[in-house]
Amino acid sequence: MGEIGFTTTIPVEIVIAAKKKPVDLNNLFISSPRPQELVDAAEQEGYPRNTCGWIKGLYSVAVKRSLEAVIAVIQGDCSNTQALMETLQLKGINIIPFAYPFDRDRKTLETQIFKLMDFFQVGIDDVLRVKARLDNIRRLCWELDSMTWQDDLVSGLENHYYLVSSSDFNSDPFKYEKDLRNFIDKAKRRSPCKGQVRLAYIGVPPIFTDLYEVLESMGARVVFNEVQRQFSMPFKTGDIFEQYLNYTYPYGAFARLEDIQEQLEQRMVDGVIHYTQTFCYRQIEDLIYREKIKLPFLTLEGDKPGKVDARTRMRLEAFVNMLKA
Ligand code: SF4
Repeated sequence: MGEIGFTTTIPVEIVIAAKKKPVDLNNLFISSPRPQELVDAAEQEGYPRNTCGWIKGLYSVAVKRSLEAVIAVIQGDCSNTQALMETLQLKGINIIPFAYPFDRDRKTLETQIFKLMDFFQVGIDDVLRVKARLDNIRRLCWELDSMTWQDDLVSGLENHYYLVSSSDFNSDPFKYEKDLRNFIDKAKRRSPCKGQVRLAYIGVPPIFTDLYEVLESMGARVVFNEVQRQFSMPFKTGDIFEQYLNYTYPYGAFARLEDIQEQLEQRMVDGVIHYTQTFCYRQIEDLIYREKIKLPFLTLEGDKPGKVDARTRMRLEAFVNMLKA
């Protein structure tokens, strides 16, 4: 089965309907044993130091892996994707462009999805069959999410891991489903974890490898992982176009804000951590979230993959202590 890489969440149903293996390059990068080496390798090839660490990691994993092609989301994700794709093309990698319409226009999205289906030579019936199958798995993700904020049985890290992996189902939806089902069964037998500060984590997934453990060691727990939850497509619809229109991440800060506000209220959150990546254009959007979210707010910046640095740890500690007080 050929592997199809992608740079952010795409209609994965199409890749699976074409009997290809989906590979989210972000997950591949951050779960590699030595992610910093991948960043260094990209710099050695000429990637500028002042480019986001994720882009450099994505470049290196795509070059190392024997991928049949990479689906590049050239609108609705990252301002660096075009240059990333060009450098991958230079390495002889086959690139398939995909664009989410900024104005969330259904017709434009339909055109993009049909174009991707044409490329993989799959029909809408096959795609909808896969969607129905994946939706059963996604229902488990939603259950895990409600066990996090409603039942207090699942940690922020466990929530992050399963939801962030739902972009490609760890390249094996059947195994992912089995693992998640087992995990949920075990977690149901736990006692609820009470008395901790309840945090929301908004923004792209962290490049820090131990952020959730650090927060938990301070008596705080993430009960809302914003973008990760979006990867699990938490919308009950049989319509694939509607599904990818409801998905907020590609449609800008205000589309995301609406979902964030709703979830903050529902999940009884004490404070919000907005994670931003060094050299990412999304850092500018911090000012929108700061102004609109009326809860204690901490902006956190991460640069290189690895453990939380001493300065960030101190800032987190001060924030959590302030919330406890
Ligand atoms: S963190 Fe920002 S700059 Fe880096 S890959 Fe993501 S969107 Fe692009």
